[in-house]
Amino acid sequence: MTRTPLITLFACLALLSGCNDAAKRKPNVLLITLDTLRPDRMGVFGCERDTTPALDAFAAESACFDQAFANSSFTPPSHASILTSRYPSEHGLLHWNKSLGDVPTAADFFGSAGYRTGAFTPFPALLKIGLQRGFEERSVPDPHVTHKLGPDGRPELDQNGQPRIDSYLLAPGEEVNAKALPWLLDESDDRPFFAWVHYYDAHRPYGAHGGKTKYNDFASPEVGDTEKYYRLDEVKREKLGLTSEEVQYIEDRYDGGLARLDEQVGALLDALRAAGRLEDTIVVITGDHGEVFAEYEVDEWFSHDPWLTDENLHVPLFLRLPDGKYAGKHCDELVEGVDVLPTLCELAGVKTGGSQISGRSMLGVLEGVESGKAFVYAERQGDDLTQQAGVDPEVSKRSRDRRRMLRTRELKLVEFVDRGHFELWDLDAETVSIGDQNSAAAANLRRGYINQLERLKRVASGNSALDSELQNSLGALGYIGHSEDE
Ligand SMILES: [Zn+2]
Repeated sequence: MTRTPLITLFACLALLSGCNDAAKRKPNVLLITLDTLRPDRMGVFGCERDTTPALDAFAAESACFDQAFANSSFTPPSHASILTSRYPSEHGLLHWNKSLGDVPTAADFFGSAGYRTGAFTPFPALLKIGLQRGFEERSVPDPHVTHKLGPDGRPELDQNGQPRIDSYLLAPGEEVNAKALPWLLDESDDRPFFAWVHYYDAHRPYGAHGGKTKYNDFASPEVGDTEKYYRLDEVKREKLGLTSEEVQYIEDRYDGGLARLDEQVGALLDALRAAGRLEDTIVVITGDHGEVFAEYEVDEWFSHDPWLTDENLHVPLFLRLPDGKYAGKHCDELVEGVDVLPTLCELAGVKTGGSQISGRSMLGVLEGVESGKAFVYAERQGDDLTQQAGVDPEVSKRSRDRRRMLRTRELKLVEFVDRGHFELWDLDAETVSIGDQNSAAAANLRRGYINQLERLKRVASGNSALDSELQNSLGALGYIGHSEDE
């Protein structure tokens, strides 16, 4: 009777010890997300300005996915797709009023596998809506806030007696690094780390933390300083009356902010390299969405959400392995945000325990043993303001304005759910144009879209209204064209 518990105890200890040994042998995993990053502004993707020397050098040591797409056009849903491997309707973090559904995150999976886990972002709200789930360490450098001063030099107070805010900027990259690096380099903990580090320096107002003069000597440096120069619809454009030089200047400011971001990512990587940490760390760098500049007459200028255009959805995606495998390799297959987590899990040998994973590891296409994805998918939905008093119906409509996109290598289908119409874009044309709606390719896209909606309906979280929308969408989709075999 006395031996059994002892044997059991020893067996447990042996198992635990085995687990720890296995955990020690696991690589560190560092996931870096770069907010608002357009690949075409980076050297590695052909930008002639030397905006991103550190990221370009990193890309040369990494597998570079040239056709990577975000699963949404704004920060929370896109990050949630990266961290959960589910599409926005599936993870439920569709907009700021929502929170992540009952969905495990990368930190849960890596934590269960014996990793210490840390999230480092300058964006406090991101760690209040579910993206913090599973992270042991959650660290946010303080935003930079300045207050309006009255004639007496003291802060003006609002009707609630609070100081009026003049500007509110999320902390720059060096302050993110100051939080993340001590944790990443901490050797007091034997466990490998899984870390998510997020930088915001490329977001509007462009170049807000400096860097705005790097690419120009324009005489009106205040242009682009504040939010009034961004999200410019036709009315705002008319009101501002920007000259073409001023429009160019705002774009230049973006490059300046990007250069600054690049310096900070470079500083983090340099510190890890100097400490020998890159030798046992898998690093992924990607973006959460891009940015529209002034490409479209109809869309807002200097804005991202709600536009499901390639300027917003095409993102950089680099995967660096400690042994240099895949260094400099470019992969031209379609991949998307949901594919990041299963790739990292496969590389690190981390199990997802039967949890729904909607992406697929990118290693198969990287090795050339799997064919590429036929489609990538994105969706967006803003805050529903219809119940809020005093909100202009047009503002409310614009905010909610649900859109979904399915994209092949040649065609893109966008459904404007609340407006009840579709657009079909031919991406091969030199200028984006409406594609041939009766082509076999369009019919294929239509089939893919129906499959995707049915799939989302199956696994969607309770936050989604897909059930009631699905039939409407499928009915409206009828006009997109039928092939002979349908
Ligand atoms: Zn973002």
